[in-house]
Amino acid sequence: MAIDLTPFPRATLGHWPTPLRACPRLGAALGGGPGPLVKRDDVGALGVGGNKLRKLEFLLGAAVADGVTRVITFGALQTNHGRLTAAACASLGLRCDLVLTRDVPRTGEAYERSGNMALHRLYGATVHVCAEAEVAGVVAALTAEAGGVAVLPVGGSNAVGVLGYVAATAELFAQLDAEGIEPDRIVVPVGSAGTAAGVVAGVALLGRTTRVDGACVSRTAAESLATIRRLAGEAAALLGQEIDLAHAHADDRAVGPGYGIPTDAMWEALGLFARTEGITLDPVYTGKAAAYLVDATRSGEIGREETVVFLHTGGLPGLFAYAPDLEGSPAFSSPA
Ligand SMILES: *Cc1c(COP(=O)(O)O)cnc(C)c1O
Repeated sequence: MAIDLTPFPRATLGHWPTPLRACPRLGAALGGGPGPLVKRDDVGALGVGGNKLRKLEFLLGAAVADGVTRVITFGALQTNHGRLTAAACASLGLRCDLVLTRDVPRTGEAYERSGNMALHRLYGATVHVCAEAEVAGVVAALTAEAGGVAVLPVGGSNAVGVLGYVAATAELFAQLDAEGIEPDRIVVPVGSAGTAAGVVAGVALLGRTTRVDGACVSRTAAESLATIRRLAGEAAALLGQEIDLAHAHADDRAVGPGYGIPTDAMWEALGLFARTEGITLDPVYTGKAAAYLVDATRSGEIGREETVVFLHTGGLPGLFAYAPDLEGSPAFSSPA
């Protein structure tokens, strides 16, 4: 089944398709088997790359079509979504305001000034750091200043943003089909859930049944799965379709104490990808999704002979925000 996304305005922000590559040394380190295929959505020329570019193609495509000149969005201090919105706005000639809250219990030079915090302003965004209770007031003041404002949700996760991952899933299956590969499972990190929702919707719209494992990084599995299902249904509805959602799953074993709080299992998985394949994960999203993959493979829940696609969603700048934690962490002593 082909998916027609041409009715939706789209800004070109990436170079597609992103690479899909085998990881045999990682497979060997996980106890044998082929190892996952990694879909490198972390690779991108604009704003250091990452999954939010795919959502922003549709979100900012719609905004530009509506004559918007200023974009407001939200996140934690180290938001990758904010950084990529800032970079995309720079490339499209739009003003960008980031309204950021201290959602993660971390302070210090690296967290508050390095990584994405440095890049937001480098790409020309105006950064407003405020308390949760002040957000509505800041947005009201910004929208009152000028007409033509688009307010994008946290993580770019609404039905229009999800279309970016419907497109990504069609791209992934075209790559797999060209190689004659039938995947058993796709593992994807889940924050605001739009990425996983797009993969779930894409699989269904393509008439496939591939299992999608959402690896939660903030909310519980039940909350995450409910959001994935809702957003996938809403995106399919934009395309005039109703979809089956039985292939959608969520697992929260790797969240640890909370969003943005490092765990030993995350550092170990991050070190393993780095030392076997030279692939850089981030501590907040992909590192925890990898910790789920590693744990579920070691326990036998994911079979070693399965064909698993691991969706690498980016987040590299965030690693530098956590760089002081690397010394002494299992990342520097992971076996490989
Ligand atoms: C935002 C983000 C995610 C999670 O995507 P959602 O669509 O919010 O679930 C995963 N990885 C990285 C690097 C991100 O920035």
